[in-house]
Amino acid sequence: MRVVRAGVQDAAARYSFTEIVNMGVYVNYEAGNHRDWGWTDPSYLHDIVLTPLALRMGRWAIAGTIVHEIAHLNGAPGGNDHAAEVPRR
Ligand SMILES: [Zn+2]
Repeated sequence: MRVVRAGVQDAAARYSFTEIVNMGVYVNYEAGNHRDWGWTDPSYLHDIVLTPLALRMGRWAIAGTIVHEIAHLNGAPGGNDHAAEVPRR
């Protein structure tokens, strides 16, 4: 499964979901943020952050947030672009 939709960006979908996970993904926790579910920082190519909001929503929200943030690690843009939510075929 690719986690980024084809044609969204030139460099998008560089790796499969399995390849990204096998390269290593560090899941961090930010206890002080109660507004966002999670995020990535382009300075840290293997790190994603989860918040209390994501954890309170349950296991499927946690899993969904992790997959969404992995798509960003793979090049999916943020903001109003929905590439991180659409699996590539
Ligand atoms: Zn996003």
